[in-house]
Amino acid sequence: MPSTLLFAEYAPATLEPKNSIGAKWQRLLDSLELQRSVEGKRVAIKMHLGGGVGFGTIHPFLVRHLVSRTRAAGAKEVFVCDSPGAVRDAAQRGYTAETLGCAVVPVAGTADKYFYRTPIEPAFRDLAEVELAGEIVDADALIDLAHVKAHGACGFGGASKNLSMGAVVTSTRRKLHALEGGLEWDREACTQCHICMENCPNHAIRFNDQGTFDVFYHHCKFCQHCILICPAKAISIVGGGYRDFQRGMALTTSAVLKTFDPQNVLFINVLTDITIFCDCWGMTTPALVPDIGILAGRDIVAIEQASLDLIQAGNLIPGALPKGLTLGAQGHLFERVHGKDPYVVVEYLAELGHGSREYALQAIA
Ligand code: SF4
Ligand code: SF4
Repeated sequence: MPSTLLFAEYAPATLEPKNSIGAKWQRLLDSLELQRSVEGKRVAIKMHLGGGVGFGTIHPFLVRHLVSRTRAAGAKEVFVCDSPGAVRDAAQRGYTAETLGCAVVPVAGTADKYFYRTPIEPAFRDLAEVELAGEIVDADALIDLAHVKAHGACGFGGASKNLSMGAVVTSTRRKLHALEGGLEWDREACTQCHICMENCPNHAIRFNDQGTFDVFYHHCKFCQHCILICPAKAISIVGGGYRDFQRGMALTTSAVLKTFDPQNVLFINVLTDITIFCDCWGMTTPALVPDIGILAGRDIVAIEQASLDLIQAGNLIPGALPKGLTLGAQGHLFERVHGKDPYVVVEYLAELGHGSREYALQAIA
């Protein structure tokens, strides 16, 4: 049975304000049956508030209207939350209590120490427990408000990443990144010829002053070029790579979602300013494809699947890619950019029973 998702398309049918995305957003919120999920509840709106000089995040206009509609639907309390670092300088990007109409709070306290340990059963590799942010666990209802973009380490950032990396504390983020596995380097065998570094198509390899091999996994596409080109056979691949990272993210998302009655969780994916890197990069880059719109619903698997499906490689905007970056030949646009299949996390979330990959879009007129 396909899950229904509301869809406010960015492109207006006519050039009248009533057909623009701002007006459609308000109609989408009216259709979302917010009351069913938020009435009488303490509601956490989890979003990514970005960082540094990046402003390609979700526009405060959209957040403010979500906050006021949530209040109007009878919420007892509403607040926006994100990591302590992002909250600290959120005002620079236009997110304040005054602009949003509610408190903007650090998801795990200002010291990142307000959390609850939850086991992952059965443990996945070294991931035996995760530390879930206190403001999320102690909320009665959750609105997962995600900005969709590509991501160097996992291919894709949307609703799942917003929770698995954003509704936890730093120690859990570290554990998840550790699942990326990676390249193993044999110091004894290495002749320091630097052929690997010079030929990595993604500029992911460095040698430090002590001659130690180092890989920046955000850039690495696990293409194995360095393994094949190394004349000394000093590099090999270990661990599960980005797929294990995605699995860890799905398991952590699942742990977050299990702390709520499913009726009290809403997902909103904003497909505007779809950039090549995550909002935490602290900078804004050109959008890869034209703005698509906003999806909303109660099924995280469906909304992630639909978000990815709506991002078409054929719509890549000329000049959107950073200079020197070449596009791979196959797969989703994000896979062609970062070398990582973005659908993997959707597959895992479906396996964990969090929804359906089949969906039907209900357009907001
Ligand atoms: S190509 Fe192989 S031998 Fe040369 S620097 Fe890289 S790891 Fe060392
Ligand atoms: S696997 Fe490919 S992208 Fe990664 S470091 Fe080696 S050459 Fe670079």
